[in-house]
Amino acid sequence: MTALRAYLCDMAETEVPLIIIGAGPIGLACALEAKKAGIGYLVLEKGSLVNSLFNYPSNMTFFSTSERLEIGDVPFVSNNPKPTRSEALEYYRRVKTVFDLRVNLFEEVTGVENISNTAGSRFRVTSGRARYLCSKIIVCTGFYDIPYLLDVPGENLPKVTHYYKEPHPYAFRKVIVIGSQNSSVDAALETWRKGAEVTMVIRKPEIGTRVKYWVRPDILNRIGEGSIKVYYNSHVTAIRDTEVDIRTPEGELTLPNDAVIATTGYQPNLDFLRKLGIRLSEDEVMCPVVNEASQETNVPGIYLAGVICGGMNTHRLFIENSRVHATSIIADLRAGGLGR
Ligand SMILES: Cc1cc2nc3c(=O)[nH]c(=O)nc-3n(C[C@H](O)[C@H](O)[C@H](O)COP(=O)(O)OP(=O)(O)OC[C@H]3O[C@@H](n4cnc5c(N)ncnc54)[C@H](O)[C@@H]3O)c2cc1C
Repeated sequence: MTALRAYLCDMAETEVPLIIIGAGPIGLACALEAKKAGIGYLVLEKGSLVNSLFNYPSNMTFFSTSERLEIGDVPFVSNNPKPTRSEALEYYRRVKTVFDLRVNLFEEVTGVENISNTAGSRFRVTSGRARYLCSKIIVCTGFYDIPYLLDVPGENLPKVTHYYKEPHPYAFRKVIVIGSQNSSVDAALETWRKGAEVTMVIRKPEIGTRVKYWVRPDILNRIGEGSIKVYYNSHVTAIRDTEVDIRTPEGELTLPNDAVIATTGYQPNLDFLRKLGIRLSEDEVMCPVVNEASQETNVPGIYLAGVICGGMNTHRLFIENSRVHATSIIADLRAGGLGR
């Protein structure tokens, strides 16, 4: 730690007008608009390009049609109206290449120091690799990095995942899928179709109301015919190597089990925003307070874009309806004198 601190102290500070934190679809949209406006910018991304999308299930299909995932008016052509994850990865890679966007990958922002003065906003941004000085920051860090934990014994066993990827490893095994929304339903159907013996454990009395309308009949029919078992109003209470305990309205049960897919949702890193001094609403949504016209927060010079703006309500904003943040922010930066 001391060695790292000494290394960072010796490090030169790179000056760049605008730092964008996160290279998801919305961070890239901000970069694109900044480039078009002639604003010097750098995107810092802790993982791969569009890291959240990269980590989605391999075979997932978006619920949006491809033109609604477009950024910067770059056409997104897909084989079917609703694109797949791999088509989306291809699209955002193309956008990065065609516009030669300045993105540093695998460089996580670990700290932001506000050194603003009467001359205007100014920040020192630290990553594991470098330090930067900038006058404006756009935070678009999404919500996919922190899963909601079950908080039960055994949750950290290797057979438990909060990120379902693909069905093959589950074939011919006893699988419990926890949750009732799209991710859970997709995982249950996909693993069942590849030969898994699937049981869903759902704390609510029904399959989630947001499940895609074309998938809903499929899951309800598989449950109805008994192909996929389900325990409604039930909770997993403990996970062991070969068993799982669940609490159902009829009492406690122990089910034989090989693997658990806990698709129980994800939450944004609101602590990161708090550390920047960004005010959040005081209700349970903890929605960051932003000026709706400009997306600027209560900290002058720091803007928010993308799904992070919804706070704990991670379903209100998505690519379709938050890509517009990029144009609002860049218009505000231009009005403030940055760029052409
Ligand atoms: C299974 C699934 C299906 C979906 N389908 C659709 C759909 O059909 N249509 C739609 O519009 N939306 C859909 N969404 C939602 C959509 O993917 C998100 O709303 C979208 O990714 C939000 O974009 P974003 O750029 O705000 O955040 P993200 O895409 O999450 O990007 C945030 C980026 O910030 C990076 N980051 C985080 N912290 C740091 C840090 N400290 N330093 C550097 N980088 C950091 C992350 O690695 C990540 O790459 C879906 C979501 C899921 C989970």
